[in-house]
Amino acid sequence: MRFLELCETFERISKNRSRIYITNELAALYTRLNPEEARALSYLLIGEISPPFRAIELGVSSNLILQALSTVLARSKDSLEQSLKRWGDIGDFIHVHMRERKINPLMNNSELSILDVYNYLHKIARENTQRGKVDIIINLLLRMNELEGKYLGRMIVNKTRISVGVATVLDSIAQARGVDREIVRTIYYLVSDIGLTAERVFLGDLSYKIQIFNPISPALAERVGNSEQIIEKIGKGFAEYKYDGFRAQVHKRGREIRIFSRRLEDITGFLPEIVEDFQRISNDVIVEGEIVSIVDGKPVPFQELIKRKRKYDVLKYSNMIPVRMYAFDILYLDGVELYSEPFQNRREVLSEFLREKDLERIYLSEGMVVENKSQLDIFFNKALDAGMEGVIVKRLDSPYTPGQRNHNWIKLKRISDTIDGLVVGYFYGQGRLRDYPGSLLVCVYDEELDEYQTVAKVSSGLSEEEFMKLKDRFVEISSPYINLNTRIQPDVWIEPNTVVELNYDNITLSPTHTCASSEFGGRGLALRFPRIVQIREDKSMREVTTVSEMISLYRSQGENQSTGTEGME
Ligand code: ATP
Repeated sequence: MRFLELCETFERISKNRSRIYITNELAALYTRLNPEEARALSYLLIGEISPPFRAIELGVSSNLILQALSTVLARSKDSLEQSLKRWGDIGDFIHVHMRERKINPLMNNSELSILDVYNYLHKIARENTQRGKVDIIINLLLRMNELEGKYLGRMIVNKTRISVGVATVLDSIAQARGVDREIVRTIYYLVSDIGLTAERVFLGDLSYKIQIFNPISPALAERVGNSEQIIEKIGKGFAEYKYDGFRAQVHKRGREIRIFSRRLEDITGFLPEIVEDFQRISNDVIVEGEIVSIVDGKPVPFQELIKRKRKYDVLKYSNMIPVRMYAFDILYLDGVELYSEPFQNRREVLSEFLREKDLERIYLSEGMVVENKSQLDIFFNKALDAGMEGVIVKRLDSPYTPGQRNHNWIKLKRISDTIDGLVVGYFYGQGRLRDYPGSLLVCVYDEELDEYQTVAKVSSGLSEEEFMKLKDRFVEISSPYINLNTRIQPDVWIEPNTVVELNYDNITLSPTHTCASSEFGGRGLALRFPRIVQIREDKSMREVTTVSEMISLYRSQGENQSTGTEGME
């Protein structure tokens, strides 16, 4: 299939962002593809060329694109640079300049296929020199029309603008092949690789199997209001400390060890001590746990710990902040897939497995069976005394459900819950903030509709200086290009890549917000008196709080609290 057809589809779906429309359009593309093409298309649709844990970087800045364009258009790089500043988005910029191009040397009717472009992108990534990368881009642009140039530019330097959600891509694959969408989703969550999922489905392989060294998408915890509600939902369950660190999934086969983050990135290089410990083991295994650091008997706050993740500082920080892992699940052991076993069995296997080993830094997570509210309350207080952020209670008979947030795991935290939302735009402030962001428009994510819905307009929690700094961080765009359901029009739309953690007094119904509005007769859920706690640098737009979580938070606070007016400040 020609790359141009993909670009035309992108154009159409950027104008009609309904989930059904997008799924139909993409399914129509998929029906014409073979497994290899389906694999390539799946990566391209989400703006990638590989799964996140392979992290194949193109290594191309907008500067290199400008160099390439300067050759293709025979214009000085300086003048192009000025023009790019005006356009903002690299795609629109390339589009307009290529359209104006007088000479059109090699193409009239582009013949590049999706696979050609995908292979060229890999070639760019493999090329070591900047000059070499520029030459490949020149070669590509000379064979493209302006529309293809627009999307090539976005794929290379601004992939957040290729904004089809993973869920929509999976549904399109299911629709094109006439397969139940839950089957396709399960296959995906087990291997966390959209290209591999597409290829398997297109080859007719619908079996559920994990692939060692492909992270299994992490199971997530639901929340309810209090310990009583947990017992109501779960009955007899297993309560564990909720450690405040970062999640890691360790895969080991033979001598090879890889460690993956919650965001499915390969973080092996950041955790040399953990690798060393696993090297003492002869088994093949997938173990999951929380990485924490205890210095002078106290847990090191998450924000400090995360500094280790900066590549070049690992050695420095591994001395200053030594880490350990509290293992809480085992998903595979010596050829046996354990993720579908009941939790209770997995816990037994895990504790047996760790007991036999002479490991220095891998501990079993602290936990106990609880049958009623008072047992859970006692354990919860013990967790808080030990400096934990709360507990997670797990259903004894539940399988590990990759990528799902459900009531198999329920968390209960010390401080009132916060939510993580995506900033999509801002309003100018007052006084010193007249030309700066003064309040931010924040959204949560509806998994069913694959769209973002507004939940707060927040203007407190940061100092004036911090608000001012946001201006440099935010990149202005002319209109939102994600699937966004909003009744509010901010002064400035921004690229959707900043996630903020918000706390709030309570959740209320509001006519201005759209979160879950179809559930509540047109009024949406909104945060009353929202405050910014921090910017969640470790989270991407795909990991914000979901609409279904908002609904359960709202319901758990009790109907009597929820009738106030919205606190927009
Ligand atoms: P939060 O901001 O509350 O940590 P989150 O969105 O990052 O929420 P949740 O799904 O709500 O993640 O909570 C589960 C997280 O808690 C896991 O991803 C893991 O990192 C951490 N965790 C700590 N201790 C445990 C444990 N014993 N069992 C499972 N997860 C644990």
